[in-house]
Amino acid sequence: MRRLLLAAPFAVLASPAAASTGVPVNPWVALAYLVSGVFFILALRGLSSPATSRAGNRFGMIGMLIAVVTTLLTHIPEQMCGEFGMCDAGPDWASMSEILVAIAIGAVIGLITARRIAMTAMPELVAAFHSLVGLAAVLVGWAAYLNPGAFGLLLPGSDISAVSKVEMGLGIAIGAITFSGSVIAFAKLSGRMSGSPILLPARHVINLGTLAAIIVLTALFAMAGPSETMPLIVALTVLAFLIGFLLIIPIGGADMPVVVSMLNSYSGWAAAAMGFTLGNTAMIITGALVGSSGAILSYIMCRAMNRSFISVIAGGFGADSSSGGGEAKEQRPYKQGSAEDAAFMLEQAEKVIIIPGYGMAVAQAQHALREMTDILEEKGVEVKFAIHPVAGRMPGHMNVLLAEANVSYDKVFELEDINSEFAQADVAFIIGANDVVNPAAKTDKSSPIYGMPVFDVDKAKQVFFIKRSMGGVGYAGVDNDVFYMDQTMMLLADAKKIVEEIVKALD
Ligand code: NDP
Repeated sequence: MRRLLLAAPFAVLASPAAASTGVPVNPWVALAYLVSGVFFILALRGLSSPATSRAGNRFGMIGMLIAVVTTLLTHIPEQMCGEFGMCDAGPDWASMSEILVAIAIGAVIGLITARRIAMTAMPELVAAFHSLVGLAAVLVGWAAYLNPGAFGLLLPGSDISAVSKVEMGLGIAIGAITFSGSVIAFAKLSGRMSGSPILLPARHVINLGTLAAIIVLTALFAMAGPSETMPLIVALTVLAFLIGFLLIIPIGGADMPVVVSMLNSYSGWAAAAMGFTLGNTAMIITGALVGSSGAILSYIMCRAMNRSFISVIAGGFGADSSSGGGEAKEQRPYKQGSAEDAAFMLEQAEKVIIIPGYGMAVAQAQHALREMTDILEEKGVEVKFAIHPVAGRMPGHMNVLLAEANVSYDKVFELEDINSEFAQADVAFIIGANDVVNPAAKTDKSSPIYGMPVFDVDKAKQVFFIKRSMGGVGYAGVDNDVFYMDQTMMLLADAKKIVEEIVKALD
């Protein structure tokens, strides 16, 4: 009896068979997956604020540990087969060593990558990871198709059920779209491919036609007999890879943040679809969480940039400009200042609003900036940080850097909460930001960033603008009228270097 109780968690597997062949899911396994799902929800909750994000990360790790260990333990030991008659339901321990070696290799690669990656390269890393999730979904789908018996998907008549084939088709299609789309996003974000939109003639017709063909092929695949399915699943996979590529190449410039979070969402749905194929509750829960949180994030990013989701997906935005591509600009007069000038004015100010952007991340100027803030506050100056939702190169980029430098969260404000305060600010201190303070977004209909809400820095009495040279442009590749305003003083230098000089001058 005791042995039976101990064996109970392993006896009835949460195996692929569970979904399609009616084998009941072991309640212990279901419970463990549910607990891991709860930890994932707590992780998302924690990650919604910088103050709780560390705890959120830990919850995510615990949830993942429970899910992985549970999945590994549901592999039934061979000696139990006779007793429970469940041999077919899962691989034996023989494959455990291979699995553990694969996990170890993945863990080492992950560890090295995480340690080496620069914060500024995070979006392309995220895109690369999404591509792996997509590829995994395609491979699992194909493995299940080629060896349905091992996944418990075979019906008595030696065929796969239509439902399983629909799940398989969807998983492979979403996975392939995620893979090729993420590879293009990675190439664009890392500068291996031009960030400009590539607009094919009749692209909407081609895209809609390809999507319709994928849906028809999935239906045909589900209805086809065992001998007819191979050409259908091959065609489905090829077309899905193609549409991922076609969907992302026309998306350019400033729309990339939305694309990254949209691909994040796709990778979740691909995992959820595969969870159905494998009858794995944890994958369904996790995939749905990633899918829906990615979709919500895409929506938030679209709202932050005043863009409709459909127009982002339809692509072509920023067709006249390229990411980082400098256009020949007319020479206009501007004022240039020094660290001493800035220190003097900052000291005299009552209220300073700092607007960090991508350049602060490149220069890693956050620690020096914190030091500058501390000194100003000691001198009685009120200092606030204004964070744009798309500042930097990934959602929350600036919040992460400021948190790393121990800037207190109560000094950090979102766009809608602080924009009205520029009118009372003595100094707007722009450090490595550009597009997020560009007034062309409000006034120039032809600008690729037109419609994106931006900080009203022009309302501040004095503006300091830190960037390395007048030639450099922001991500959207357009000139910025703030450089040439009467109250603007350009501080042309590396962000970290100039802030350190300001700190020295303030001391
Ligand atoms: P921008 O990319 O518009 O501008 C960066 C600025 O930093 C430039 O003026 C650049 O000028 C300056 N800079 C670069 N390196 C340094 C350095 N070492 N020291 C000082 N200055 C430096 O940044 P924003 O943060 O304002 O805008 C973000 C843009 O990125 C938006 O267009 C957004 O849509 C896009 N984007 C955002 C993503 C997100 O998820 N947040 C993802 C992908 C894109 P110079 O070269 O002359 O120094």
